Amino acid sequence: MVKDIVCGMMINEHKPPAKSSYEGKEYYFCSDNCKSKFESNPREYIKEPEKGKDEK
Ligand SMILES: [Zn+2]
Repeated sequence: MVKDIVCGMMINEHKPPAKSSYEGKEYYFCSDNCKSKFESNPREYIKEPEKGKDEK
């Protein structure tokens, strides 16, 4: 299982309702709605823990 990073729902990666790739990684979504939200602003949903939080 993988997480839909838009809404937090768990998705079966073998049968994802929607799927997208960004910067060489694949992301799975519960619906086309979450997929299009992600694609309109991927950076908002992708967390990069190594860089730490630096939001202003
Ligand atoms: Zn979703």
